[in-house]
Amino acid sequence: MRVKAIRRLHVRTVLPASLAPLHDLALNLRWSWHPPTRDLFASIDPDLWASTGQDPVAILSSLRSDDMDRLAADEQFVRRVREASEDLERYLTKPRWYHEQGAGERDGRTLDAIAYFSPEFGITAVLPQYSGGLGILAGDHLKAASDQGIPIVGVGLFYKSGYFAQRFNADGWQQESYPVLDPDDLPLSLLREEDGSPVVIRLGMPRGAHLDAHVWRAQVGRVPLLLLDSDVESNDPTRREVTNRLYGGGGDQRLEQEMLLGIGGVRALRAYSRITGAPVPSVYHTNEGHAGFQGVERISELVTGEAGLSFDEALRAVRAGTVFTTHTPVPAGIDRFDVGAIATHFGDPGCTIPGVPLERLLKLGAEDYEGGDASRFNMAVMGMRLGQRVNGVSELHGAVSRDMFKGLWPGFDVDEVPIGSVTNGVHAGTWVDRRLYDLAKDHLGPEVASRSVFTRIHEVPIDAFWSAKRQLREQLIADTRSRLKKSMVARGQTEAELGWVDSVLDPDTLTIGFARRGATYKRLTLMLRDPERLKKLLNDPERPVQLVIAGKSHPADDTGKALIQEMVRFTDDPEVRGKIIYLPNYDIAMAQQLYPGCDVWLNNPLRPFEACGTSGMKAALNGALNLSILDGWWDEWYDGQNGWAIPTADGVEDADRRDDLEAAALYELLEKTVVPTYYDRDEHGIPRRWLDMVSHTLSTLGPKVLADRMVRDYTEQYYWPAAHAAWAVAADGHAGARSLAQYVTQVHHNWPHVRVDHVDVEGVADAPQIGDEIEVHAFVALGELDPASVKVQMAYGRASASDTLTDVELVELAPQQSYGEGRHRFGGRVRLERTGALGWTVRVLPAHPHMSADAELGLVTLP
Ligand SMILES: *Cc1c(COP(=O)(O)O)cnc(C)c1O
Repeated sequence: MRVKAIRRLHVRTVLPASLAPLHDLALNLRWSWHPPTRDLFASIDPDLWASTGQDPVAILSSLRSDDMDRLAADEQFVRRVREASEDLERYLTKPRWYHEQGAGERDGRTLDAIAYFSPEFGITAVLPQYSGGLGILAGDHLKAASDQGIPIVGVGLFYKSGYFAQRFNADGWQQESYPVLDPDDLPLSLLREEDGSPVVIRLGMPRGAHLDAHVWRAQVGRVPLLLLDSDVESNDPTRREVTNRLYGGGGDQRLEQEMLLGIGGVRALRAYSRITGAPVPSVYHTNEGHAGFQGVERISELVTGEAGLSFDEALRAVRAGTVFTTHTPVPAGIDRFDVGAIATHFGDPGCTIPGVPLERLLKLGAEDYEGGDASRFNMAVMGMRLGQRVNGVSELHGAVSRDMFKGLWPGFDVDEVPIGSVTNGVHAGTWVDRRLYDLAKDHLGPEVASRSVFTRIHEVPIDAFWSAKRQLREQLIADTRSRLKKSMVARGQTEAELGWVDSVLDPDTLTIGFARRGATYKRLTLMLRDPERLKKLLNDPERPVQLVIAGKSHPADDTGKALIQEMVRFTDDPEVRGKIIYLPNYDIAMAQQLYPGCDVWLNNPLRPFEACGTSGMKAALNGALNLSILDGWWDEWYDGQNGWAIPTADGVEDADRRDDLEAAALYELLEKTVVPTYYDRDEHGIPRRWLDMVSHTLSTLGPKVLADRMVRDYTEQYYWPAAHAAWAVAADGHAGARSLAQYVTQVHHNWPHVRVDHVDVEGVADAPQIGDEIEVHAFVALGELDPASVKVQMAYGRASASDTLTDVELVELAPQQSYGEGRHRFGGRVRLERTGALGWTVRVLPAHPHMSADAELGLVTLP
């Protein structure tokens, strides 16, 4: 019957008391990385477990009352339920790393809540709220925070259709479809008021309209995740669709999504604290620019609430507690809106954010620097203006970001631009294949979740490891064949024509994986530069190679889709069919089979556009070797023995020629090094040299690539300093924020009068030697600024022929004398610690105890 229900009623399974813990076990997503809990659900109905894509909620809702009676009567099963439930309870309450660090308490203050905003969260395949790396990273961040006891609360959106599902047509062109999710079938619960009614978050919209949202709560171990959903009856039909799709929709949809994520997200956090008593976050971390409006809402709270701050004071207070992570050095990847759309949404009387005048808001996202576009509102730029602490996601990306955004800090050297880095990591519990986990447990004991396991990896017998690896290739091959069959049927072939699919790939062949979004800079088709050379590698009778490829392209990106098509068509070529496979619909479930089944993980982005990349880390944890361009994380951690670096043709301007050069280097590495090493076997058929490299990779790279390491780095380098800064400016009725705001105004007012008039240097011998001391006096004009409220520094370093300084050392000069009319002498002694041609200069900078970096205000004066 094609009738549509006018109302839906969701009948929740009522479990008998002895099985009741299954409910909480299914709702807490810890099952997604806890093998025993997964086994428990699988054992209820193994076929259904497989056919639902390993979904505990689906298993529970399928139970009929006779199933439940059978299970409740099964003593062994009931005992396992109890054990799993006790284990979860222990997991949720046992002190963790964070507690060992003093339960979040330092200097008498407790950091007991950190908000983490992200437009996507990739936690498990059955909660498809992600498109790629950014979302998977956010999911791994929450899981690792939970494991470490770091008190994060996640904030995102609930997309009813998630990201799209990908298949190919007969021509190999990407087709998108949008399966609709029913939140009642997902491991989510609705956030409700005490009277049982759903919490409603309301945002004003232009022309008297509104955007309402419900809040779904997912539980990721210890970490709650709040997801706002605009599919609420009180919205008009278009607004109900605002959270329909991830990165979908045109017009205002994207802007309204981001308003809901940022502004609505803060309101959801407040409702969550009010209802559950959860602590109010002190630190707000935004994963990429999309959630930037969270800072705007917090400014509004401080202006209109009890604090009664001015906009400028509130801005200083908000910045102190905000951490912004930028994720892309690709200019087209930066999130920007038309200034007009912002003006409509924030200027209309019905939807202004109280206390945030439109022109102040526009300034926060303005590209008012050299090379900027005045018609654009830039979310990354706003992220940097609303966050006192900013970071990129690998060391190289940090450096690239400092260069990319240096226009915001004019007058400063690139290396003084206040953008740091924390290199991404991956959650081992999610990504290490079960077989390897069990293998490690068999040989290293039950404590395999700890890092020490990596240093003892050589205790695992090499042949046991090698045969596990073969099983992993077999597992990948089985999965590939079944996916490929479905894909070929979707492309118009009949089952009868598909006999060949049952013999694609071979478990003893060197298996290379390549899976990533179809973004152009990832260069999916680089390996096709010389198709004959690739064919030779695939068809080598003695030492063949096979390739499994996957990845989606954004629906609006026809260039990306054309690259995918080129690749899919290549895989159709009878000469290589079955040796190179393109699998549709790359997602977490596929990834979990793909990384472990590969021997080599290939990545050949256009350097330096890969901010970090995480798939290679996941592959490494599963005993694969990376073969990659030195970009992102690989630039940092490639050590000559843990895989291979594809040489780059940096600086070659002609893109085609650069691709040719880099592709040739890739073929050469494969032919001369990778393939021979893999097929170099001892008398037992074991590739010892290869496995030495794998073992070296696991023991040295293993601990670094963990998300545990990443969240600890964030905690130490960003969350704690941000919390202290936020508390410091908030103390005594926000005295610090008030004083800083006043200072900033005063500095801006006076800066045009700040000058370095004259510098005297005494004590320089004709032939100065290292260790000599010189006496420096700088005569500066400061307008009305107090000498104590600026820094005067002597900067000295190697002087090039053009007098630019490198290797600069900064020495602070102290105020020594005032001459009236704003003129002052600063001075100090400087010990020469450098040899060679030295040059120096003097500079004046703003200084205030609540500033976090010299460059923070982007002001500096040189002679
Ligand atoms: C890890 C992962 C990504 C991100 O991989 P990159 O190396 O960052 O491109 C994308 N999609 C899925 C499903 C993943 O598991």
